[in-house]
Amino acid sequence: MLPEAGSLWLLKLLRDIQLAQFYWPILEELNVTRPEHFDFVKPEDLDSIGMGRPAQRRLSEALKRLRSGPKSKNWVYKILGGFAPEHKEPTLPSQGPPHLPEPEGGLKCLIPEGAVCRRELLGSGCFGVVHRGLWTLPSGKSVPVAVKSLRVGPEGPVGTELGDFLREVSVMMNLEHPHVLRLHGLVLGQPLQMVMELAPLGSLHARLTAPAPTPPLPVALLFLFLRQLAGAMAYLGARGLVHRDLATRNLLLASARTIKVADFGLVRPLSGARGRYVMGGPRPIPYAWCAPESLRHGAFSSASDMWMFGVTLWEMFSGGEEPWAGVPPYLILQRLEDRARLPRPPLCSRTLYSLALRCWAPHPADRPSFTHLEELLQEAWPSEGCCVRDVTEPGALRMEPGDPITVIEGSSSFHSPDSTIWKGQNGRTFKVGSFPASAVTLADSGGLPATRPVHRGTPARGDQHPGSIDGDRKKANLWDVPPARGQRRNVPLERMKGGTECAWSHPPGVPGSTGSHQGRCGFSHPEPQGRPALPLE
Ligand code: AMP
Repeated sequence: MLPEAGSLWLLKLLRDIQLAQFYWPILEELNVTRPEHFDFVKPEDLDSIGMGRPAQRRLSEALKRLRSGPKSKNWVYKILGGFAPEHKEPTLPSQGPPHLPEPEGGLKCLIPEGAVCRRELLGSGCFGVVHRGLWTLPSGKSVPVAVKSLRVGPEGPVGTELGDFLREVSVMMNLEHPHVLRLHGLVLGQPLQMVMELAPLGSLHARLTAPAPTPPLPVALLFLFLRQLAGAMAYLGARGLVHRDLATRNLLLASARTIKVADFGLVRPLSGARGRYVMGGPRPIPYAWCAPESLRHGAFSSASDMWMFGVTLWEMFSGGEEPWAGVPPYLILQRLEDRARLPRPPLCSRTLYSLALRCWAPHPADRPSFTHLEELLQEAWPSEGCCVRDVTEPGALRMEPGDPITVIEGSSSFHSPDSTIWKGQNGRTFKVGSFPASAVTLADSGGLPATRPVHRGTPARGDQHPGSIDGDRKKANLWDVPPARGQRRNVPLERMKGGTECAWSHPPGVPGSTGSHQGRCGFSHPEPQGRPALPLE
């Protein structure tokens, strides 16, 4: 077979370094047809075509020399070639391969345009639309995927969108974690397309807010999700990355019991001894999820991600409510600095709420770390039990013998077990309410009625939090049955027109800040909740 005219540069490059035998494998198996495509080729890809490490180093040097030459005029390749992610790990083997498992089927980062077909729309985000798709591997096997296409105007991509899109690619291509959405590869077509692992059940936010007859998510499952999220965030933190957009809308359900962190468009590397990223100018940020230092100074760190984890936890336990609903973005920072905090949701135990309050400590150094989080979650973990008798008392959580019960709130009593009241969720009906402790045996109590403290953690510090003017305002009345699903809980402050969903504004402390304005507010279809407060850079 003769070399293709468009790829003669590759043949020449390889001949110059005595590696011409790799011309066809690089062209056909790695789909490299332009120098810029090597940005997305990993050492393992070169390993897979039989190129040894010394040869890979020679190739890397030759590419560097080639790149110092003239650049292509095509906008896609021009920008891809000139795109330098702020924190990109080496893609050629100067420092040896990253320790990542080989992706299923030896998947490559560059995917030919014809190998992916797009189906129905799944959602739309900041810089693109996401479709369900089918990717046909060279073996003929088809893999269901999600395809995110860069939104392109008549003149090409707009503003920062291309940079964010490419940054998301460059971040995701180096990540491999069971709870981080996987990038399969990139289609260098027009539009550019990211081919990602499909999360067939959509976003956690959509699931949390799904109307009846979809049952609410069990509290025990929410805890499992928190643990998965903590693991993924610890992984990102260990790789020196800050997510900056942690929220239930960016957690996708890969299965009924598995969440994956997604949307890496705002991810940035942590830098300097202080391990923070400071925004260079006004930039989209999700106000109601942000830590005060992010809003005031544009400063992001693992500690500000931890703050966002607290808000995400709050969303999860409040059925996908919008944080600070009705509070204009410019007032959110003021409230936070006045030490107002989101109130304790009905499904959230005091111990878990005290963890959320720790995430919302005013000083970043006082917040827990993600590596410590699993232990803290363990302390707040609810006990599981089983109902041993009918409970039909007025106002009590109805249960029948054999019903699985998750104990959300329990306390020891010096009186008889019959007078001890607990709060929990019936795993059969998903209803939440209070019940006599004597009606339930805990799974680890050897069949005895539950009469001991349920949580191993410290008492809820939230209950005594000095500045928490909104936190847990209403002391729990154990015989109060929480509002029915779908009925909106009282929000801490009166709901105002506009809310935080669509108000995109500059952070008050960031250069270029001009206060709030209505702006680009995408993310409308089919997600019920718009992306909140993301001003333009
Ligand atoms: P994004 O641009 O990443 O914010 O995505 C916009 C919306 O598309 C999300 O809110 C999801 O509803 C949907 N979506 C994104 N990625 C996936 C995926 N991998 N699987 C399923 N749905 C997705």
